[in-house]
Amino acid sequence: MSEPDFMFNKIAIIGVGLIGGSLALKLKEKGLAGSITGIGRSIDNLKTAESLGMLDSYTQDAAEGVRGADLVVVCVPVLKIAEVIKKALPGITAPCIITDVGSVKEGVINEVEALLPEGVEFVPAHPIAGTEESGAAAAFADLFKDRLTIITPGPGTSRRASEVIKKLWSEAGSEVVEMEPAEHDRVFSLVSHLPHVIAYALVNTVARDKSISEGRQILDYSAGGFKDFTRIASSSPEMWSDICSMNREFILTAISSFEVTLSALKDLIKDSDYTAVRKNFKKAKNIRDSLV
Ligand code: NAP
Repeated sequence: MSEPDFMFNKIAIIGVGLIGGSLALKLKEKGLAGSITGIGRSIDNLKTAESLGMLDSYTQDAAEGVRGADLVVVCVPVLKIAEVIKKALPGITAPCIITDVGSVKEGVINEVEALLPEGVEFVPAHPIAGTEESGAAAAFADLFKDRLTIITPGPGTSRRASEVIKKLWSEAGSEVVEMEPAEHDRVFSLVSHLPHVIAYALVNTVARDKSISEGRQILDYSAGGFKDFTRIASSSPEMWSDICSMNREFILTAISSFEVTLSALKDLIKDSDYTAVRKNFKKAKNIRDSLV
């Protein structure tokens, strides 16, 4: 009997959380891998991942887990990507492609490319999909369906390896586009990292108000607006503090730009210039309406 024709014989996924677990589920559903091994810190999370059908095996030992893999997908918070690859390297044999899913690209590429031996290639990737939940239990196979995945090839990435990773993400349901790493980090500092920073800051601002009315805390009065706006403040603090560290300069620029916009709006309200306030809101509403 002939062997089935898998896209990959063995895939190792380091970090079987929301993103790693969802990719594993999709790869299993489509039968694209001979086997999938999960690597992680918490044994409970790995057991959950296995019981949900994402993995054929799991281990906490990165070098052991990647042995024999032709693809290693790194799905840990961005500051830990190079660290876990360094731990895995003694178990990796060329040819092997390593890819990641991190939300910041340039710093990760610089750290990872400095580590790689001959015959092992790194293809940086970022699926633009997620929820505010974490861990394998939150994963679902269609997370990447009809979403965008961005590939940001670094100086050491070959065209062949990029094509393999593009195929992986289109099999997962994404449209795949390429971007320069620095441009990726600038754009996502504005459309993703700034909103998360503001959401965390807004929750902390409102929670500072200690007023109590009829035995209730102020947050008991929060409904639609506050809850919609701050949903992303339930995201993983570890993941988001790593993103702030890795994309520090672009995030600081984005925060400064936001401070200018907010201060201009504050001045309009202070001056009771409600025609200008309305014009300001209308401009934002038109832009927002065009997105959905
Ligand atoms: P997650 O659900 O918290 O999963 C992260 C996983 O990494 C966890 O299973 C965690 O293990 C594991 N991990 C953390 N540090 C590790 C280490 N040192 N060694 C081994 N395993 C480690 O997070 P996620 O949302 O999947 O995010 C993972 C990556 O995807 C991040 O780089 C993030 O920037 C990127 N990303 C996230 C989103 C999103 O919206 N969530 C979207 C696109 C890209 P434990 O269970 O043991 O803690």
